[in-house]
Amino acid sequence: MIQWPKANDALGTVNRGNPCESGLCTLCRSDCKGKCETWMSSLRGRKMLYPRDFGAITAGSGNTTHVGVNYNNLRIQGYNYGSIGVPQGLSHSEDDCIFPNVNLETEFGNEVKTKARIPLLSGALGSTFIAAKYWESFAVGAALVGFPIVVGENVVGVDRESVIENGRISKSPELERRVDTFLRYYDGWGAIIVQMNVEDTRNGVAEYMIEKYGDKVIIELKWGQGAKDIGGEIQVTSLEYAQFLKNRGYIVDPDPTLPEVQEAFRHGAIKSFARHSRLGYTGLASADAVRADFMKAVEYLRGLGYKRITLKTGSYGMEALAMALKFATDAKLDLLTIDGSGGGTGMSPWNMMESWGVPSIHLHSKTYEYAGILANKGQKVVDLCLGGGLAREDHMFKALALGAPFTKLALMGRAVMIPGFLGSNIQGAINPDQREALNGNWEKLPPNVAEFGRTADEIFAGYYDVQKKVGADEMKNVPYGAIAMYTFADKLAAGLQQLLAGARKFTLADLTRDDLFAANRDTEQVTGIPFITDVLDDAAKRILNA
Ligand code: SF4
Repeated sequence: MIQWPKANDALGTVNRGNPCESGLCTLCRSDCKGKCETWMSSLRGRKMLYPRDFGAITAGSGNTTHVGVNYNNLRIQGYNYGSIGVPQGLSHSEDDCIFPNVNLETEFGNEVKTKARIPLLSGALGSTFIAAKYWESFAVGAALVGFPIVVGENVVGVDRESVIENGRISKSPELERRVDTFLRYYDGWGAIIVQMNVEDTRNGVAEYMIEKYGDKVIIELKWGQGAKDIGGEIQVTSLEYAQFLKNRGYIVDPDPTLPEVQEAFRHGAIKSFARHSRLGYTGLASADAVRADFMKAVEYLRGLGYKRITLKTGSYGMEALAMALKFATDAKLDLLTIDGSGGGTGMSPWNMMESWGVPSIHLHSKTYEYAGILANKGQKVVDLCLGGGLAREDHMFKALALGAPFTKLALMGRAVMIPGFLGSNIQGAINPDQREALNGNWEKLPPNVAEFGRTADEIFAGYYDVQKKVGADEMKNVPYGAIAMYTFADKLAAGLQQLLAGARKFTLADLTRDDLFAANRDTEQVTGIPFITDVLDDAAKRILNA
């Protein structure tokens, strides 16, 4: 197995735990005192694109050995002449073709277009408690930056305050809080997407959302995710809450209604319960049957009034991938998110996460191939978002290029959560009276933060950008976690602009698969992206033989 380095001396970053392909630790903690690249980028923003201690150092890449098939073994092309996709109003001159002028705006959708300022989509942040605890930071941050954020499954079902009568929601404070928090700063960029699994569908989430919000909300059908191939799970430590969830219709394991389980809980032998969702389509035995059911569901949602409908699928095998692509395309959906194995979550069985499903690079490579089959038949392929273990700007570039021209967004799950809890920890340490409400984990600023300052404007490189956007008076209402999100997104955006400028592409939509090459033959075979020295080899020989 490949070992990913724990420390990066050039950037001055260290992972708290064991890093995985994304660069994040396998176990990412909300109380982490630092300091991986994502954690640092949430404070320092675009400064984290460069090695530390400029003027006193020189630095060289350690990443020139490429083993195995993974995203790390795609490398990014650069050219020594030309400029493509120069935004309107600019010329091809060297003064205009500078990286800050690269246009990162994207849009997705069949008839109704949804715009985003950067090509980023959040993972589905659902009923897992960490999503609820730091939601304000996530949602305000996404709205300020202008990228779509997804409310994951089961939010209504686990909310003790929600009221479900005769199988229909009549009240759901938590789901409303999730949507309202985003809409507070929504300025026409990004979107709020609400996901539905089996239980949500039964509870009438779609009906409730359209009644309350009309088409301000995008509704998402959920087939799966990269981290597990069973439904969403959470862990609860109260017997009474476990029984409440069981009564709500969830599978709760072990069963909290059994006397022997209650006895074991009282004696401490059982300390928690796992709440599971149901698998979908269990009564269907063929792809045709799934298609019919899926089309009916889409038709029903359209009948309710939804103008934008998306689908999320996980790292299932090739048949399911083809089904997702074909059905979503035929149904004229607005986005299909394809989440590969390697991504993570709050609660998935560990060995399942380690060993099930199709790793992202394999899944995304076949996605491109299958989308091409549909396109060659003259179909307008559904807009795509690729995810699963992505956390940096180079990951975004590679995922967008690998699936070009079909990919419009790159999904980040765990990475975009780090600024949320880091900012909340800082806010709680600086303002002890707010700590509990913010779910802050720190009593005082740790040295890794204090070295940058003692106040938000000293700590977050993006503070004054946010202030410029919302106004000085409004700053007191913006959670630090959202400022951290803005700061992190600024690093991603600047880094992506630099990579695109180097590839001589000044508009995101001009990115192609030609802007990548494969660092080894295995990666070439899996991705269909040619090997490094084969790319433009003909052009090279023409020059030499002229
Ligand atoms: S923020 Fe998470 S991924 Fe980064 S070092 Fe801390 S625990 Fe690891």
